[in-house]
Amino acid sequence: SRWDNFANSRLGNGAVGKSSMIQRFCKGTYTRDYKKTIGVDFLEREIEVEGEDVRLMLWDTAGQEEFDAITAAYYRGAHACVLAFSATDRDSFEAIPSWKIKVENECGEIPTVLVQNKMDLIEQCVIDPDEAERLSRALGCKLLRTSVKEDVGVMGVFRHLASRCLYE
Ligand code: GDP
Ligand code: MG
Repeated sequence: SRWDNFANSRLGNGAVGKSSMIQRFCKGTYTRDYKKTIGVDFLEREIEVEGEDVRLMLWDTAGQEEFDAITAAYYRGAHACVLAFSATDRDSFEAIPSWKIKVENECGEIPTVLVQNKMDLIEQCVIDPDEAERLSRALGCKLLRTSVKEDVGVMGVFRHLASRCLYE
């Protein structure tokens, strides 16, 4: 089907939980150990969205500058994007607009969702809920909150993007 090429690029600073989110979604597992992503990883999963089978091909990027040229080549053909930051990491939040621009430069306007991860660490949260909402409005992206650790909200991120890809 034409959805065989559905590709989804995930971006954001290091250690915000991008690899964990893909692993949670595609394999149903979670690990506490941090293994820095080198270059680009790939996983896929098929889900049903409003009666349609959608195969999501997830390209997991490294956030580090040294891999910029490599990762850009991989997300160039993406049809949707998750911009992820961590509730406990201000830098990751502040870097979101620049990641949005990088994606736009490679992909144009594609369905994009803003994800605030690590919501289980709410007592260590360094981002005001209002600021997150403001950024979401400024970027024109829906804001979703997740805890990959507790498996809260992860499915919703991918369902949201899959249905936008089906109907836009
Ligand atoms: P990436 O660099 O963005 O790919 O981040 P990783 O997926 O490698 O995760 C970085 C670290 O954060 C790992 O130790 C994960 O176990 C941890 N982590 C990921 N998601 C969550 C979450 O929702 N809550 C908490 N407390 N830790 C998380
Ligand atoms: Mg990673």
